[in-house]
This record gives sequence, structure tokens and C-alpha cells, in this order.
Amino acid sequence: MTTKRIYNFSAGPAVLPLEVLEEAREHLLSLPGVGMSILEISHRSKPFDEIIEAAEADIRRLAGIPEGYHVLFLQGGASLQFSMVPMNLLPQGGSADYIVTGSWSQKAVKEAKRVGGVKVAGSTEADNFNRIPTQDELSLDPNAAYVHYTTNNTIFGTEFEYVPEVGAVPLVADASSDIFGGPIDVSKFALIYAGAQKNLAPAGVTLVIIRDDMLKRTPSSLPTMLQYTIHAENKSLYNTPPVFTIYVMGLVLKWLVKQGGLEAMARLNARKADKLYAAIDNSGFYKNPVAKSCRSWMNVPFTLPDAALDEAFLKGAKAAGMVALKGHRSVGGMRASIYNAMPESGVDTLIAYMADFAKRNG
Ligand code: PMP
Repeated sequence: MTTKRIYNFSAGPAVLPLEVLEEAREHLLSLPGVGMSILEISHRSKPFDEIIEAAEADIRRLAGIPEGYHVLFLQGGASLQFSMVPMNLLPQGGSADYIVTGSWSQKAVKEAKRVGGVKVAGSTEADNFNRIPTQDELSLDPNAAYVHYTTNNTIFGTEFEYVPEVGAVPLVADASSDIFGGPIDVSKFALIYAGAQKNLAPAGVTLVIIRDDMLKRTPSSLPTMLQYTIHAENKSLYNTPPVFTIYVMGLVLKWLVKQGGLEAMARLNARKADKLYAAIDNSGFYKNPVAKSCRSWMNVPFTLPDAALDEAFLKGAKAAGMVALKGHRSVGGMRASIYNAMPESGVDTLIAYMADFAKRNG
């Protein structure tokens, strides 16, 4: 059995910083000064209070969250947010605008339609989601209850390089796959949500950053666990939260601060992505279908000249210490997810392997 770590290019759950895993291991049996494992302690204990408060403080500091927002740690994944957003923010008889840029936005639309009116304010489905609509292409309803979009499309490898201008309408973002990959101007958003298992933590917690005026919209008839208001009033401790996941998220956030914050992450992520896209574009072998201005820094899909080579590519990659490069079943080919915790050496190793494979098979 090997205990050597390999490069994990999974789209999520995804690679975590080695230092974070080492610290979690080091303190797994007994948290310093506590004498119990994080796996054993009550969510209402003082040590956990300190952990969740520190995590929130680091989130506020890293993202520069202005006054007037709540930070919530919820369960049910980003998928439950597809429902909670309309249940809380879409009044009866109202309508919400959705920008559709991939499978996850489509799923968000599907759930919102169960709750109320939905208008598609823009879609790139006709282009196989290989680009992001421009601001000019959006047809926004000034009376919409909110505008929803997906900042980064994990499957298609596209990312908004701008924040949609929506006037006075509240802007809601699913930032599951690029949260904290770079700076974010929270003041432009009414609500941001992100499943943590890509850039922030292991699976099990969803980060929600919600502007306080949105909390007033929650209908009291909603089931208690689905009310943002309840979670805000109870500081995410209405019921038992995923204690261990929040603890690891706290370690990841400290690691992000140590790396120099979100600006530093953006510089590193741009460097990693730029060199990988350059290697694809200059290879004459691999192809990335995404319009250059819309390419994701986090998820890089690419195809080989013949799908019959895919298996050999993946087998060779595994032998060279790289896994989870198979593209999503709906698009095929390959996908390298290069989130914050993917070291630059992982991207360099992949690029070298790709060049060698192309030379042998081109
Ligand atoms: N939105 C995006 C952009 C995603 O990438 C994913 C998961 N891959 C989801 C939503 C769904 O997240 P979850 O599995 O946490 O429900």
C-alpha cells in the first residue's frame, strides 16, 4: 500500500492543502488544550464556538465582507441552495431572472420553477455552453425578485470574468467552484453560496453569505430548517452542524491567510491556468473548446485528437502520479481541476506528461 500523495485533479471533493491535512492529523486525537478529538466535541462547547467564530472572522477578513451581511454554515450542499434561494427570496407571484451557463445553472432553474416564476435572462446553451454571455446579451427584468448566476461552470470550464450589472435587483451567485480562488467584491451581491468541497473544505458544509435585507423576505411558513432567518438568528447552530468539516474549513482559511489572502491566490491561480492553457493551445494535439475570454481558472477541460486515446492518457497519468483527470460524463475528454490547493508543481507535472504523451501519440 502506498502512502505517498499523488496529484488529485478531481472537480470535488478535491485536493486540500497538505499543511491542513497534517495539522488535522496531528490534532485528531486531542485538540490542543481540549483533550478530546474534534470528532467528539459538542457543537455547543466553548472550543467549537472558538472554531466557528474564527472561521467566520477569517471569511470576513479574506473576502472583505462589509457590514450588513451574515455568514452562514449550512448543510444540504449547493444543491439545497437551488431550492432555499427561491423559497426564501422569491415572493408569491414574483419572478426571478436566471442566467444559464451550464448544468448547474440548469439545475438551479429547475428547482426555482418548483417555487415560482423564472425567466431565463441569458443562456449559452446554443453554443454548448462554451462561453459566458456578455452583459449586452442579458435581458434583465428590472422587477425581478433577484438575478441568479453561476460564477464558474465546473463541468464546462467557463467562468464569468465580470460581475453582471443588475441595477437595483439583488444579485445571487452560486460560487461553488471558484469561491476564494481570487478576490470577490461581496458588496455587489445579495447572496453568495458555495458548496465547500472544492476550494474550502471537505464535503458537508455550504457557505452562505447573505445581505441582511434578504433575511426579511423569508416567509415564516417555510419549514424551519429551510429558513435563512433561523440559521442567521442561531449563528448556524440551530441544529448540529458538521463540526469536523467546519474545523477543517477553519484550517483552510488560516492557510489562505498565510498564503497572502485572495490576491495572492489569484496570482498563483492565474499563473497555473495560463501555463496549462498555453500548453494545450500550443500543442497542436490537445484542444480546449472554451472562448479565451471565458476560460475558467479552476476547471480546465481538454480533448485529445481521438477519444480512443483517452484511456491510454488516463492510464499513463495514473502511472505518473496524477488521478481524476477524466472529463465529466456529459462532455467527455479530460478535465484538470486546479483549485487553490493544487500546487503549481502538480500543474507542471501534468504539462510535462501531456507534452510527452503528445510526442508519443501525435
Ligand atoms: N454548483 C456548482 C457550480 C457545482 O460545481 C456543484 C457541484 N459540483 C454544485 C452546484 C452542487 O453542489 P453540491 O454537490 O454541494 O450540492
